[in-house]
Amino acid sequence: MTWGLDNLPYGVFSRHEGETPRVGVRYGEHVMDLAGALHDEVFATGSLNAFMARGASAWRDTRAVIRNKLSTDPAAVAPHLIPLEHITLHLPIEVADYVDFYCSIEHASNLGKMFRPDEEPLKPNWRHLPVGYHGRAGTVVVSGTPIVRPSGQRGAGVFGPSARLDIEAELGFVVGTPTALGTRAGRFEDHVFGVTLVNDWSARDIQAWEYVPLGPFLGKSFATSISPWITPLAALSEARVPGREQVPEPLDYLRRREPWGLEVTLEVTLNGEVISRPPYRDMYWTPDQMLAHMTVNGASLRTGDLYASGTVSGAEPGRCGSLIELTWNGAEPLKLPDGSARTFLEDGDTVTITASAPGPGGTVISLGEVSGTVVPAR
Ligand code: CA
Repeated sequence: MTWGLDNLPYGVFSRHEGETPRVGVRYGEHVMDLAGALHDEVFATGSLNAFMARGASAWRDTRAVIRNKLSTDPAAVAPHLIPLEHITLHLPIEVADYVDFYCSIEHASNLGKMFRPDEEPLKPNWRHLPVGYHGRAGTVVVSGTPIVRPSGQRGAGVFGPSARLDIEAELGFVVGTPTALGTRAGRFEDHVFGVTLVNDWSARDIQAWEYVPLGPFLGKSFATSISPWITPLAALSEARVPGREQVPEPLDYLRRREPWGLEVTLEVTLNGEVISRPPYRDMYWTPDQMLAHMTVNGASLRTGDLYASGTVSGAEPGRCGSLIELTWNGAEPLKLPDGSARTFLEDGDTVTITASAPGPGGTVISLGEVSGTVVPAR
């Protein structure tokens, strides 16, 4: 069972218009209302943030209590299980800061070749640190939110709706426990609450014109979609892998202390047709290294910080997490079963990213889905 006792992702839901959203865990085709079932008002506060701020031992204890109640006392829990079709899911966290990395060596190499064909694809820093930038937290939206095609400058004197709207299939990491300014983060699992799916929508024409020398800006900031479910790290214990070999060996502060590579396979569909299956386990930089790097200068963490992996792309064909790679910058359009072809997204297109990971005893952990439909520029 992909939504059984070994999964139990957290989300935020309401049962009717006007109700303050509440925290629940998904169990099968139901959500368990935690404020009701656990008699704890921290779950009636409209987001996961207050609960996440309690820290890793509270996360462990709560998960144990939920699993125990569901497995040993179903009659007591039954009144707090609400069918998914009776609820609306909301953005599960109040996003504090949003950082996006660039951790796939295949993705970084592919984009280097396309954007800077006369240079080495990887910049000299790439193998020494996980490259990232600060994104726009206020435009992180929950799955299902329509994506308005952005307008902007696409060259000197050229303004209009993006003609090269793309996706980026990524894994996102949600910070639960903060750090004080001037200090470094401690252990990954003491700070990071869980994992979510991310589609970092990207306007390639706006991006290509604006990104030198300061990096991504309006080509990225119009919308970033995340899954309504946050999968706790505890649910991914069977998915942990050492992470890809790194040459040269990273500096000590970036050294991997524990295996935090993750055997997570993403699947990207465009209008219902699978166009790619990006393998997260092949990422060069692992999420513990991203966290260490993000705080090595003393920058503090806040509850609700979201940092994403960057586009997940594998080496084989059909394993890339963006259209710009799948169509090689538009040169090789994707043929869809309805007879149409795509280079970049058209109005009305729906992109859905799902993901799964191995669970205990041969089971499968689903990470839910993040979906969005493109609507015309305004
Ligand atoms: Ca990205």
